[in-house]
Amino acid sequence: MFELNFVLGIIYMVNENMLENKKVFVLGMARSGYEVSKLIASNNDVLITDAKEQNVDHVEELKNLGVKYVVSDTPEDMLDESFDLVIKNPGITYKHPVCVKAKDLGISVVNEVEVAYNYLPKDITIVGVTGSNGKTTTVSLIYEMLLKENKKVHLAGNIGFPLSSFVSKIKSGDILVIEVSSHQLVDFDKFKTDISIVTNLTPTHLDFFDTYENYVDKKFRIFNHHTSDDIAIINLEDDLTVEYTKNIPSKRRIFTSQNRGHIYLEEDEIYYGDELFINTKDIKLKGVHNYENVMAAILAVKNLGVSDETIKSVLKDFSGVEHRIEFVKTINDIDFYNDSKSTNPISTKVALRAFDKPVILLLGGKDRGNNFDELKEDLKNVKNIICYGETKDIIEKFASDNNIPCTKEDVLEQAIIKAYELSNSGDVILFSPACASWDQYNSFEERGGEFKRVVDSLK
Ligand code: ADP
Repeated sequence: MFELNFVLGIIYMVNENMLENKKVFVLGMARSGYEVSKLIASNNDVLITDAKEQNVDHVEELKNLGVKYVVSDTPEDMLDESFDLVIKNPGITYKHPVCVKAKDLGISVVNEVEVAYNYLPKDITIVGVTGSNGKTTTVSLIYEMLLKENKKVHLAGNIGFPLSSFVSKIKSGDILVIEVSSHQLVDFDKFKTDISIVTNLTPTHLDFFDTYENYVDKKFRIFNHHTSDDIAIINLEDDLTVEYTKNIPSKRRIFTSQNRGHIYLEEDEIYYGDELFINTKDIKLKGVHNYENVMAAILAVKNLGVSDETIKSVLKDFSGVEHRIEFVKTINDIDFYNDSKSTNPISTKVALRAFDKPVILLLGGKDRGNNFDELKEDLKNVKNIICYGETKDIIEKFASDNNIPCTKEDVLEQAIIKAYELSNSGDVILFSPACASWDQYNSFEERGGEFKRVVDSLK
């Protein structure tokens, strides 16, 4: 406790935007609500609410710091004009009754990253990565490269480590690499990066925003407050980002897998400044989408003093992040891949493009009105589809419309066993479900874990 207060005391001297003597309503606990409450508890009056009971140790810890904890289905009843601020979990929308009431009462609603940002030393370098797909892979690559170059670097954000939990560890001169989801971007106000990357944008969740202009404004807050000293790394194949960034003050650095840019892919080679940088056979990650992530990462770290030798050595060894086209094992010459993080058809599409062997594809999960037709053009190697879960009937119809043999199962375990029965030597069994996991699991991590356990038990 003494140490925490001491550290916060030092930060207060350098940062005037942190919270002090405020009455704060934290909506939603999970990891980020818990961490931000710990961060602000010593100088503020904090109430945290959640619809479900939370980890007892965390609750106890917060209570000891003076935080009030209430489990409630109607948290809006506890919000009144005496509060100064609402900090909401990024997964909660502005349509939530607490957010609606806060707006009526004139109380600001912010997210955990925005709050934590105000506690950081001013002279650090921040690399922010956003986009529809590829964020985690890209931040992980950047982090590994900086680490290998012996830089003082921290990895935070959506990847599972809320920024609030890092604040006391980040010192002047350090580098912070942060993954930012579109939900977090929406609440950004002061948050500013030195280098921003937009990996790619699939125009989804339009319904979340009232107008298209509002959507564009919110999506590109990753470039907020940029000056000509800052860098915007963008994908030339992404029309919306290219259009938006035309007039921003930042230096634009362009990557592309189909044209020419500051860094580009041509057949099996990546060129930087028109000079051959690396052949894709020397990159462990596979698939054009991953080469796009690699190119974005190279542009970022080249600006942070990482040597070509370090970059190449990381690319040679980095095998990807768990649950993203993760190689699990080979049994009887059949390769099993876990891509449980694929929660939409676009990421399954890119996974299919990464293989040139016959594929048995496992699809299924929560029904969120997905349109599987997105996969149509990438089915040429798919010899069977096995579907399960809430979406199984829709997928069965999709398979039949595209003349692909399909087997329907109830749960993932049966689907894996069936896929194995149907497979031949040289096949790939790819679990890239294209759906969210919540019909049968708590998270894509839990679902991917189950896939690996079942595969491990096969003979
Ligand atoms: P995110 O953090 O944005 O969800 P991940 O790196 O975790 O991105 O990858 C999520 C899914 O998207 C995985 O299935 C992965 O194979 C796929 N993917 C990764 N990079 C890209 C990309 N650049 N374009 C399209 N899909 C991608």
